[in-house]
Parts: sequence; C-alpha cells; structure tokens
Amino acid sequence: MKIEYQKPWFLKPKLSQPQTNVIINNNYTISLTFRVDKTYKKDNKIGFFGIPGKNFGISYDYEVDLFVFEYWTKKNDEDEKFHCHVYDCINDKALIKGLNITLTYDGHSYKLYNDFKLFDTIINSDPIVDDYVNEPIYLGCHNMDSLNDKHKCITEMDVYHFSVFSKSLDVKTIENLVTNHSYFLNSAEYDDNYCYYDLSNSSGDEFLLYDGVKDLTFLKKKNKMSSVGFEVIKDKLDAVGCGFCLAKWTQVTMHLHNGTTHSCHHPEPHKVGLEEIKNNPTALHNSKLKKQARKQMLSNERPKECQYCWNVEDNSSSFSDRVYKSSEPWSEPYYNEISKSDWRENYNPKYVEVSFSNTCNFKCAYCGPEYSSKWMEEINEHGAYNLSFTYNGIDRMVERNTKPYKQSEQNPYVDAFWEWFPELYGTLDTFRITGGEPLLSKDTWKVLDYIINTETPNKNLKLSINSNLGIPDELVDKLIDKLDKIIKEDKVKELIIFTSCEGFGKQAEYTRFGMDFNKLFHNIDKILTKLPRVTIVVMSTFNIFSIFSYEQLIKKIHKMKIKHFNTKRYWNSAIILDTSYLRHPPFLSFRILKDYITTDYFDRWIKYMKFNSTFRSLNFHKTQEKSDVGFSTQEIEKIIRLKDIFVSDMSKDINEFAQHKKDFYDFVNEYEKRRNYKCVEFYPELIQFIKNIENENKI
Ligand code: SF4
Ligand code: SF4
Repeated sequence: MKIEYQKPWFLKPKLSQPQTNVIINNNYTISLTFRVDKTYKKDNKIGFFGIPGKNFGISYDYEVDLFVFEYWTKKNDEDEKFHCHVYDCINDKALIKGLNITLTYDGHSYKLYNDFKLFDTIINSDPIVDDYVNEPIYLGCHNMDSLNDKHKCITEMDVYHFSVFSKSLDVKTIENLVTNHSYFLNSAEYDDNYCYYDLSNSSGDEFLLYDGVKDLTFLKKKNKMSSVGFEVIKDKLDAVGCGFCLAKWTQVTMHLHNGTTHSCHHPEPHKVGLEEIKNNPTALHNSKLKKQARKQMLSNERPKECQYCWNVEDNSSSFSDRVYKSSEPWSEPYYNEISKSDWRENYNPKYVEVSFSNTCNFKCAYCGPEYSSKWMEEINEHGAYNLSFTYNGIDRMVERNTKPYKQSEQNPYVDAFWEWFPELYGTLDTFRITGGEPLLSKDTWKVLDYIINTETPNKNLKLSINSNLGIPDELVDKLIDKLDKIIKEDKVKELIIFTSCEGFGKQAEYTRFGMDFNKLFHNIDKILTKLPRVTIVVMSTFNIFSIFSYEQLIKKIHKMKIKHFNTKRYWNSAIILDTSYLRHPPFLSFRILKDYITTDYFDRWIKYMKFNSTFRSLNFHKTQEKSDVGFSTQEIEKIIRLKDIFVSDMSKDINEFAQHKKDFYDFVNEYEKRRNYKCVEFYPELIQFIKNIENENKI
C-alpha cells in the first residue's frame, strides 16, 4: 500500500474498543514493514510510525543520515524528559530496499529489531508522558498537525505490513507472525493481537482499511485540503480584476427588520432606500451601493467595503474569502455570466440569508437590540451599558435610521421580499432564515407553507432555519410537522436547523439569557429522532464563558452524533459543532483570559476530537458506518484555530487586554443588577480572575 506525501494514515480502534493508545500499556509489540524510494516526496526528517504531541516513534534524519527512535517520559513531579536514540546501522540504502522494524516493550526495556535482528536494547521503566494516551498511531509522519514544520516529519512510503500486539513477543515468534499469515491465524498469540494488516496487495486507494482478521481497528487516511482548486479560482478572478468576487452577485444577507443588506458578512450592512425597493424589489440585494461596488470589481478596483478580504490578501499568504466564496457551488458555475455582465443589471442571488424580524425570547449577552426585541425592551427600560464605551445603545440606530420595525407594524421591506420571492425561489441554491428567533415570526411559517404548497418546487434547494429551540413546545411540534411534509414530498434537497450553544448546563445558560440547556438538548433529540434526514448545526460563538464547560459540550455532541447516526442524510453527521469565536464585544472574548488559563483546555479538546474523528468531509455522500462517526476535520480545525489565537496572544504585552478586562468587570456587575445573575455563582472558576481585575484597577 502506498502512503502519499501529506496524506498519512492513522490507526483507530472501533468505538466498541477502549479508546486509548496501546503504547500506554507496559507490554506491547509494534511491527512495520516498509520502504521509502529515493524518488519519493519527503521532509528532511521523516517519520515511519509516530504519535503526535511530544514525538514518539521511529524516523530517519536525512541531514545527518541517522535512524532515530525517540520518546518522552515523566516521573512523578519531575520534568518531562526527552529520549532520543540514533543509529547508523540503518541507512538510506536500507530504506530504498525495504525493511522491517519491530519495537517491543515489556515495562523495563525497549528492544529494537531490524529485519528481526536485535540492534538495540534500551532500559527504561519510567512512565511515558500523558500526551500519548488518546492519540492514534500515525503511519507516514510523526506529528502532522504540529505548528512547527520540523516536527511534522512527513513522507511518502510503501507499507507492506503493520501489526500491533498487546504483549512483548520474542523475535522468532514475531518473524513467524509477520511473514506468515496462516501461522498467525493458528498461533497462540492471536488473542494478544490488536491489529494485523497485511498490506502487500492493497492499493491504498480506499479511504479506509479494516483489519479484516480481528475487526478491532481500522486505518484511516488523513486528507489535507488541496489548495490547487483555490489557486485556479484566484487566477480566474484576477483575470477579471484584482477585486473581483462572485459573492457580490451570488450572496446576500437581508435584514428586512431594519431594511439593511450586505453581500457577505464582512461589509457593514447598508440601508436600502424605500424609493429603491418601490419599483425594484430586487434592490434588497441589487442596491445602488452594491451596484457601485460591482462596477469597481469589474474595473480592476477593490471596493472599500470589502477591506476584510484586502487585509487577508495583503498581509498573509492565505486565500481570502473572495476566493473561498467564489469557489462555492453557488458561485463558481456563474463565473462566465457574471464576469461578462453589466454592473447596472439586477442579479438573482443563489445564497440568501434573510431575517424577517428581531422578535426574540432570549437576550444573549453578546447580542443586542438590533437583533433581539427582549434586548430592546431592556435598553428602553434601563438604557445602554456604560462601559469604557456605550454598549448596546440605540442612538446609532436612530442616527442611521436602522431601528427595527416591530412585528405588528407594516414593514415595506418584508412586502418587497414577498413580491420578489416567487421569482427568486426557483433559482436559489441555499435559503437560510435567521432572526431574532425565526420561529416567532409569521413570515418563517409563510415560507414553509409556500414550499409545501407550491406546484413548482425547487428540488435542489438547501433550506436552513435558525432557532434558539427555546420556544414553546407547540412551535417545535409545528416545525417538525411542516418539515416532515417538506421531506416526505421531496420538496427540497437538504434541510438544516442551526441552533446555538456555547457551553454546558448552567454555564451555557448564563450567556444565552432565556435558555434552558436541558430543553435545548431535549428538542435537538426530538427533531433528530422524528426527522432522520435533518442535520442540526450547533453554532458556538466561543467566548469567555465557554472555556470551563466546553469539553462537556463536545462530549455531549459526540454522543448525539453516535445516537442519531443513519445513512439517510445529505450531510453524514446528525449534529455538527461549528465553533467560531466571539470578536464583538471584545470584553466577552476568551482572549482576555490569556494570563489566567493555560492551553491545556484546548489540548484536551483537540485530543478528544481527533481521537473521535471521522475521515470523510461532512457532506461526503458516500455512506459511512456507525463506527466511523466522529468529528470532521473542519470541526477540529476550528478548535485548533482557537488555540492558535490564544498561543499568539500569550506572547503579547501583559496589558494588551487591560481595558477589555475592566469592561468585563463593569458588564458582569451591571448584568447582575439588571438580570439577577451572579457571575461567580455560575463560574466559580472566574472568582480569582475577577479579584485580579479589582487589584489591577484598585477597586
Ligand atoms: S470580496 Fe470579500 S468581503 Fe467582499 S463580498 Fe467578496 S468575500 Fe465578501
Ligand atoms: S437567540 Fe439569537 S437573536 Fe435572540 S438574543 Fe440570542 S443571539 Fe440574539
């Protein structure tokens, strides 16, 4: 079997097996037969098998032409200790020819064999570091996800045999077991075997290889997103203009509750004039301002409102959202028609988000009166929060004429939407209803009825609805009823419900004021049980209040993934954790904890999620099996991003977040007065943090 460069394989036990790494036991044997051709793509130092974190495994260092075995130990309160053993008896020529390396450990000594001949014995009784406990064993690298390129040690290689035994075996037995399949099946060591892969005749084209003999484990291929496709799209966009982005035509978020619109989330929403929508309801998307931006994009200019993307393009080597959004299936196919279009023309978007009303039964700490009527009531009664700036005041809304219409008022923007919708509906790829709480808006039900009753359904539509799922039971039942009809009559291609949660239990309820955590998960369970084709995405705006209970949330979601697994969905996971991080307001950001907590939290979650990961992308159509249910690369990478931000903050000035911390302090005190929620009762973990702020500010 061939392992490609940057696509290592890893060993994962079946869910029914203990989810720990065999090397934490004091007795085992690992045997690998492999070959690395001189033409193969590889790093300067390459890993054959390894366990991420603090490196464990065998590798070859081309810079010094030495074969290496390394591991870390930790004894009681002593510091962690790195052990590195180098050998010149295995060289480049041996790698090209192919060899078997076997490692055994009996609790007192490691023994290393080259083609079943002992070449070293290393005495060690100290326990290895905890890092290895929940990590899989990789083949073809050491530490794929390391932030330090030198620690990754990636290689292309041929693998002929890989087996792991839960016992330190003698070399004659190992040789018989590895080289003779039928000997293995009849041997006494069969029961001690954890996995046995004879890969000499496998092409490795499969994404997944089961251990067909023991049915205990499987090998998965780790896919790295290829950037080739994005480079092609970027070239195509740049050929039209340096600021050309298809999303300016294909995507829109319309806040009908206050008459504002924007293409993607990055540019600030702008108000659409009433006179604009009077004769042209599509101005909800094709506004005068947006047409000016399109004109610039077609004339090799960069519109100012898209500064978010220009920052990424000018200050990093990453692709900006201009490239990602233009590569989407709702953008890319329209490249030709859009690039040749006249900027004055109206264009029907393919990806539409719409908010009909700000009516909401919650008032989440990070939300505000623009999106929540409950927040509006509080601000009308008590005024804005007086921090170092005015938080959640309504003056700017009054100034910009963006105060939301009340649900009871006639809203001309909603009227314009309904005038346009029959024409728009047929060409939509994705339609997502947001809020406020959409299930408290009559227009949401009108959309569902429209889809149920229309005689010309858009069967390719991907329909999504946001909901806090904290609404009365009758509304949840009504939703299930309507969606059931839509699904049974095949009216749409895909259905997703987006809900939100940023922590576990009481700690989640503090931030999302109005939430009942148990009710939320009861409703999630009910929907996934009654609607087996629906996927639920839990959007998590990770914030300062998330950190102490996030692990429990991750574990809860993993359990739900397993419980509701089926093969009927368009998305292959019943429930997805989509972690973003809160930027505004900055005083609720987790970043202000930078000198208060360590990265251990993130490390634990990443480890757990990686160990319980799935190898397929979330919308991969091919059926997967229950034992393969887990977190996707995207779900895990979003947590890794949190850690990266936190790590980079740690090297910054200690006073970096001083003002935000003081604002946090003032906010939670005012929150307590207005809502009778005492922060330290929900978060005893923050008592010292709050005391520190008092000391720093001499309060
Ligand atoms: S260029 Fe960037 S900010 Fe502008 S519409 Fe495209 S994705 Fe959004
Ligand atoms: S549920 Fe949504 S709209 Fe309502 S307050 Fe929370 S974040 Fe805002």
